Order: sequence, then C-alpha cells, then structure tokens
Amino acid sequence: MGEAFREIMKRARQSVPEWSATQVNDALTQREQKQDDFVLVDVREKNEWNEGHIPGAVHVPRGFLETQIEEVIPDKAKKVVLYCAGGVRSLMAGNTLQQMGFTDVVSLTGGYGQWKAGGFPFVEPRTLSEAQNRRYSRHLLVPEVGEQGQMKLLDSKVLLIGAGGLGSPAALYLAAAGVGTLGIIDADVVDDSNLQRQVIHNTERIGEYKAESAKIAINALNPDVNVKTYIERLDETNVQQLVQEYDVIIDGTDNFPTRYLLNDIAVIENKPVVHGSVFRFDGQVTIFQPHEGPCYRCLYHEPPPPALAPSCAEAGVLGVLPGVIGLLQATETIKLLLGIGDPLVGRMLTYDALAGEFNELKLFRDPHCPACSEGAHPEELPTYAAVCAVPARQLANAVS
Ligand SMILES: [Zn+2]
Repeated sequence: MGEAFREIMKRARQSVPEWSATQVNDALTQREQKQDDFVLVDVREKNEWNEGHIPGAVHVPRGFLETQIEEVIPDKAKKVVLYCAGGVRSLMAGNTLQQMGFTDVVSLTGGYGQWKAGGFPFVEPRTLSEAQNRRYSRHLLVPEVGEQGQMKLLDSKVLLIGAGGLGSPAALYLAAAGVGTLGIIDADVVDDSNLQRQVIHNTERIGEYKAESAKIAINALNPDVNVKTYIERLDETNVQQLVQEYDVIIDGTDNFPTRYLLNDIAVIENKPVVHGSVFRFDGQVTIFQPHEGPCYRCLYHEPPPPALAPSCAEAGVLGVLPGVIGLLQATETIKLLLGIGDPLVGRMLTYDALAGEFNELKLFRDPHCPACSEGAHPEELPTYAAVCAVPARQLANAVS
C-alpha cells in the first residue's frame, strides 16, 4: 500500500463512519421491524455479488456508483450503508457519495468477508451457468428478456395439447428458447403422412408415440428442458390435474370435445389457452385468457349437433402453414410467460397464406357466456363425445 493511498484511506475513515457486522445486522433487524430505514448497498463487482451477498442489499457496483445511485436512492438525506469485500472500496464509495451530496453514509468495516466470518446470514443468488449464458446469449442481449427473463422461462411450465402440426413447431421453439418444462399429451403414433408438417418427428420414428418422438427431438436440442409425456387423450379424468400443473396451455387440437373440455377447465383454473388452428391455406391464433378476454364459449356456447358437424375426412393443409401458426402460438406463449408486449387476448389473428395477408378480428366477451360470465358454473357444463374435427376456416368465417 503506497503512502498516497494510505493518506486517502485515512481521510475517508475520518469522514465516513464505520459500522461493525453486528451493528449492520442489528440495523437490518430493526429495518425488518420498521424501526429503522436505510438502504444497504453492495458496491462489489457482479461476479462477487453472484457468489453471495447480504440479504436485503441492493447491488450498485463501484464503477457504476456515480451514474446509478441517484436512481436507486433519490433522497440524499436517506441513510446509506455501504459494503464491499473487505471494507476499502465501500469507504471510498462513501466518500464519493458524500461528494455527491449524500449526508448520512456508513461503511461496513471488514466488508462481506467479516460479515460471513461472523456467521451472519447471506444469500447466494441463482444465476445462469456458463453454458446457459452462451446458449441464451441472444436472449440476454434483449432487455425485455435478459437474465431474469431467461430464468423465468427456465422456471416455466407449458402444456402442449398434441404433438402434431401446431404442437411440433411450437414445442421445438419453446424448447430452444429454454422453457424449462414442456408437457406433451398425445395418444397417437407418428405416421408417414404426418411428416409433411409435423417437423419434430422424423422418418426413423414412424410408428413411435408422438409424445415420445417429440421428447427425443427436444432432448437432443436442449438438455435444460424437462419433457413430461402423457400417452393418453385429454378427457374428464386427466384434464383438471394437467391444467393445474402448467402455466400456459397450447391448444393444438382440432376437435370440439377437447376444445370445450379444455376451455371450461381453463376458466375454472384461470389458465390462459393459446389457441391455434389451420385449414388448407388459412390459419388463426388467439389467446383465451379467462376473465380478461373472451373464452371459447363466449364465441360458441355449444358445439354444433353431431348431425351438422362437418365430415370426419382428414382436412388438407399446406405443410408450412401449421409452422407459421404454431410459431405464433409459441411467440404468444413466451410473451405471456415473460409478461411483455400485447398478448392476443380478445383479438384473433388470421393468416391467409395464398393472399399473403394477416388480419385481425376483435373478439368480445359474452355477458351470458355459460363458462366465464358472472354467476356461470363452468364445472356443471356438459362434456361432449368425440364428434369430428372442424375445419378452421368455418370457425374463422363464423367469427368474422
Ligand atoms: Zn366465456
């Protein structure tokens, strides 16, 4: 330590009072009991903070102190308790704050080292691993996502109803994005006629369960993702438990019974359903967010009688179209999970691939909806026997 530095430290000590770890701990206890009010600021570097810090502290690294402290503490009369690793940087920081006009600044003597040695409590914040920092680097560069958002995605659980045309692209991109838990319910096996659009499967896995095939593809893409497979159909026996377990449901089904069943339970459980459907060259996507926008029954109280239901023949679809719609569903899902942007609640986005046109339809809640209106009893609504797939185009026409 040079002479000049010693002199600087001496002056800093004369102007910035120091507290012991015990004193800081007592003050924190009093603050918890609302008998004291101050801000505890950790001025160390990010990597030091990440390795552990005092509970209740805010982090303003020494290098950013002058530029950031006024945003964190606008009131310069407020008491500020500073700490670093050993008590030197916090003294210097205290001096800086005094020069900036802060009138009540204290430094923790011996810093975080003394704090830990004294057996006082500390927290080790969760951070992304090095591998995750690399994998999600393009997310981390987006301020609306960032490290906190990425951890939110890793903690999120999304249920995909079906690993078919819509579920395949949605599952792949949600897995790539690092959505930590993906549930996939599908009782079907991969057929060669699926591969024109269901890109999560491949020729080798023809004959395997779709849910298992999807799991293989996702595991190969991103080991961060926990895939839970359900080789069954969604019905009254399993729907409630499944919906309860997940944050967002992606509806990739094409039949009435499942859609109504899912809707009514989602309303009861207050879970958003990201709905998509495709037919030939047309697709549509919307979010049924219970009580914030319309639910499926707001649009159609009941399915048409089986006699009027469309024929059960497989509907044709341009192979790329479910890719577009499934990825819009994945996009809306990520927005919901992160709480960013304007979700497609009360709006249906339609896509006409032949015309190359997107359009938007406004959807409204029905004050007499049997599922989501005030006083409705969604738990008492009937379930329906499997009838047929209904082409999406008819729904789009019915809505417009
Ligand atoms: Zn409704």
